[in-house]
Amino acid sequence: MRRLLLAATAVLILAAPALAAPGDFALEDVQMLSADAMQGRGIDTEGSADARLYILGRMREIGLEPVDQEFTFTRKNGAQVSGVNLMARIAGTRPGGKVIVVTAHYDHLGVQDGKIYNGADDNASGVAGALAVAEAFKARAPLHDVWIVFLDGEESGLRGARAFVEAPPVPLAMIALNVNFDMLSKSAKGEIYASGGSANAWVRARLEALVPMSPVILKLGHDTDADGAENNWTFQSDHGAFARAGLPWVYFGVEDHPEYHKPTDDFATIPQPFFRGAITTVVSAVRLFDEHLDSLPERAT
Ligand SMILES: [Zn+2]
Repeated sequence: MRRLLLAATAVLILAAPALAAPGDFALEDVQMLSADAMQGRGIDTEGSADARLYILGRMREIGLEPVDQEFTFTRKNGAQVSGVNLMARIAGTRPGGKVIVVTAHYDHLGVQDGKIYNGADDNASGVAGALAVAEAFKARAPLHDVWIVFLDGEESGLRGARAFVEAPPVPLAMIALNVNFDMLSKSAKGEIYASGGSANAWVRARLEALVPMSPVILKLGHDTDADGAENNWTFQSDHGAFARAGLPWVYFGVEDHPEYHKPTDDFATIPQPFFRGAITTVVSAVRLFDEHLDSLPERAT
């Protein structure tokens, strides 16, 4: 992580007193995680291990104390697969209360037929978003404990998220809300969606308050079958594991694009101004959820 530290030092020297702001490293995070060297971050590969090293370095640089969670599963062909989630707690200023879990999966499709699926949007962009949230909350602590969780095995069927929900680092009853990022960087229409409001009135009210604050077009939806079951994203990314467990959830992500699940999902195809705006939106969102969390109704256990 020396290169990043040097970059931060250069910013301080050249632009003092402007300190690095949360999200300043988001583009670089996506570029690094979606580089060919990471080999598409397929679960249980060397590229995946390299991606973890990068994420661990960034977590420590931000001041987090990462812990890992290993899990295994068996593919239909009988192959045994190992995955690793990385996570860290950011202490709230009011200890002992409700907890927010921010998730983003770092795995992608790896190498297939000799082609590297770099997964810049899916989901290096979400990892960068979760790191930006961590930076923001280390700069100004949240009221409630926030766990930042980088999940493995999403592309294999939400495997990391399911492992997390089965054995969370705090009792599931304490987790008030899951906020999941999966594909934050690419939209020809300049739009990002926030899903989860249809299942929870508190979530919907917070998201409606967020819409006018968002520098990119923020739309609510994709959380019912109104536009067909295939456009209901409730179980289509890691938040699905939390939804199945009965927890309130929010998902931020863009609609599918021509590079979705293609080897062309590269850093170079990301519209950078849109991505910067989306990062601002998701960081503001988690801050808003934290500040209003005490009004989230208790759920039946
Ligand atoms: Zn994804």
